[in-house]
Amino acid sequence: METLVQTKGYAAPSVRAPLEPFSFQRRSLRPNDVGIDIKFCGICHSDIHQARDEWGGSIFPMVPGHEIAGVVSEVGANVTKYAVGDRVGVGCLVDSCRECDACLAGLEQYCKKGGTPTYNGLDKNGEPTYGGYSEHIVVDENYVLRIPDALPLDKAAPLLCAGITTYSPLRHWNAGPGKKVAIIGMGGLGHMGVKIAHALGAEVTVLSQSLSKQDDGKRFGADHYYATADPKTFAKLAGTFDLIINTVSAELDWNAYLSLLNLDGALVVVGAPSNPIPVAAFALIGGRHTLAGSGIGGIAETQEMLDFCAEHGIASDIEHVAIADVNEAYERVLKSDVRYRFVIDIATLSKKD
Ligand code: NAP
Ligand code: ZN
Repeated sequence: METLVQTKGYAAPSVRAPLEPFSFQRRSLRPNDVGIDIKFCGICHSDIHQARDEWGGSIFPMVPGHEIAGVVSEVGANVTKYAVGDRVGVGCLVDSCRECDACLAGLEQYCKKGGTPTYNGLDKNGEPTYGGYSEHIVVDENYVLRIPDALPLDKAAPLLCAGITTYSPLRHWNAGPGKKVAIIGMGGLGHMGVKIAHALGAEVTVLSQSLSKQDDGKRFGADHYYATADPKTFAKLAGTFDLIINTVSAELDWNAYLSLLNLDGALVVVGAPSNPIPVAAFALIGGRHTLAGSGIGGIAETQEMLDFCAEHGIASDIEHVAIADVNEAYERVLKSDVRYRFVIDIATLSKKD
């Protein structure tokens, strides 16, 4: 019988209910487990989608949070990769089958048996998983990432989801010198997409609803910045981009964005609104366009991304938030009023009982 460790956090008790203090149990360390004292956790728009059950199948109470940065506090007997005191991260995935083609290829995010999400999922024993809006987490060492010393923990936390979710498609579709890349939506994912695409050497354009964040976009490395509320933008940019990454959490005029692709260009969906995507056949046929999707990234690629960010001096632009203010932070994310990621300072949790 495992001993269980009492842990404090914040949870959504039921669908669309405000988050509130919640006490729960973490498993005691198994031989390959790492115990992590969480220092910071980013607020991803996916936390909001799931707390509101916008994708279906949500499990409550839900402790969200999959942009976790902290310090190793204990290690199991067989752990070889990490030691007490190491600076580590945990992203969207805490386990997978480790046997299917996808897992063997290092693409655990596409595990054919369905990996174990960091929260709002069931682990291999059928127990619900609880995420990073909490003081402590226990994770198998194979699903833990090392945060390079050059990256501060708070600014690194959002890399564990927003960073890898943009890095992976940018790499897969070969963003780099000579490639014209557009990022739709400059929020948590989008601002990381701009920084990473620029660091990869691509010519980067931001397609934002307005020009209000243009100065920031240029500072992040964008070469061009357009307002999509202006219909002239679509006429001007028709047929331009080799790759468009859509990070928008809401519905879009998909056909209008497909018209911005160059010959053989790809529009990659990472933003995850709940409704189906209506696309005209000729928006794909003309120009041999690809409409594709991409989900987070595998464990090895996530480590590669963290190392790449450290090497290029890239991290997230963040606003700290106390955990008691998480519900207000959600409202601001929904209004696109965050520069550019809220990160919960988990030290504020111990001040609340
Ligand atoms: P976010 O910070 O809220 O950013 C979304 C951005 O989309 C906003 O900043 C805004 O950018 C734009 N936007 C919002 N509402 C819009 C509307 N009605 N019309 C046009 N543009 C709008 O969210 P996030 O955390 O980056 O997440 C973005 C999406 O990616 C979410 O759906 C999330 O669930 C999903 N996601 C997917 C994966 C994956 O693996 N595929 C991983 C993580 C997150 P502007 O102000 O610049 O217009
Ligand atoms: Zn996320």
